[in-house]
Amino acid sequence: MTHWVPELLAPAGSLEKLKVAVSYGADAVYLGGQKFGLRSAADNFTPSELKEGVAFAHEHGSHVYVVLNSFLHDQDFEDFPEFLKLLEECQVDAVIVSDRGVVEAVKEYSSLTVHLSTQASCLNAKAAKLWKDLGVDRIVLGREVSISEAKKIKEEVDIELEMFVHGSMCMAYSGHCVISNYTQGRDSNRGGCAHSCRFEYSLDGEGLEKKYAHFMSSKDLNGLRLLQDFIDAGIDSLKVEGRMKSHHYAGTISKVYSEALAFYKEKGHFLSEDLYRWEEELSKVSHRAYTTASLDKPAGSDSIYDERQHEQSETNMGAMVLEAGESSYMLAEVRSPFSVGDTLELMPFRGPSQIHKITSIEDVTGEQFERSRPGMLWRLPAISGARPYNIIRVYKSDLGEAQ
Ligand code: SF4
Repeated sequence: MTHWVPELLAPAGSLEKLKVAVSYGADAVYLGGQKFGLRSAADNFTPSELKEGVAFAHEHGSHVYVVLNSFLHDQDFEDFPEFLKLLEECQVDAVIVSDRGVVEAVKEYSSLTVHLSTQASCLNAKAAKLWKDLGVDRIVLGREVSISEAKKIKEEVDIELEMFVHGSMCMAYSGHCVISNYTQGRDSNRGGCAHSCRFEYSLDGEGLEKKYAHFMSSKDLNGLRLLQDFIDAGIDSLKVEGRMKSHHYAGTISKVYSEALAFYKEKGHFLSEDLYRWEEELSKVSHRAYTTASLDKPAGSDSIYDERQHEQSETNMGAMVLEAGESSYMLAEVRSPFSVGDTLELMPFRGPSQIHKITSIEDVTGEQFERSRPGMLWRLPAISGARPYNIIRVYKSDLGEAQ
């Protein structure tokens, strides 16, 4: 007997990150096309990348959702129908929308499934009912909603619900903030958020000692220990924030949560000895101190990030496997250079990492080197079980980086 689990929805900031997230177990990914999304600095997908990404995801049984969550002005709608047509041709599974006018336009010009973005700040059952009546198929609840509040919304309104389970937080009602507009000239609601709330600011004043602090910055969300509550509340999809984040992040977070959900699916509980390993894995990606934010109680002063709480991980992403199989070596693209004798950690799609000392480094012609260089393809000794899109970590101590 298997047990019901929610969908795991991971960010795909680029085609390669999509492949990494799906390979590490994401049931669905969300991404931006070249228009109408809220991450103008992400490597947004070109039409051909979109086609390839959707084909790859569908082959692996995963879904693709495209964000159209900018708030639009009238003139922005001009080429909107054409863009919707492209999304339909690519067979994307849904679009994620914030603006009421955009919901109308998607309904008018396409038959795409509509998910309401967290940007719309849906926090209660009345609003959820209203959005449902307007044709929305799924609601990504505002991050201010607790799991128990979400459970009540689910009971009152028969609609799919999605909640954030992991990643950076916004200090405003998701994006309804203009700090970035005023300080950087970048519009948060049109894809330009500069994350100004996460900067260090000085507190100054007459008679006061000048003080620097991250007083508007939130800790990062981590809902691993609350997965049972999400399941009990019937939340349909668990979303990971971070389209701008690294391959290492996309792979690690997808792996941890998909392993935990797969364990539950089989056993019906989370009492796994792997829980500590999953938590340790989450500590290996760059992050601020973790919080459960508003998931179990309203976020308060204990959710504010203090720079002294920055948790340095011991590892970096060293390389990504591109080819591996029967051969005695595997081909990898190096991101952080490492040397013969350094320790590498292969992160398989399932199960514990495998630790290896690197015994040789060759370029693609077979010439031996003592040290790899980033951005190049290298032959490394094969590791049993390695697969394309596996991430290889390196230890910062080996790289000579301070920890
Ligand atoms: S600057 Fe911070 S609070 Fe404002 S929209 Fe961006 S993440 Fe949210």
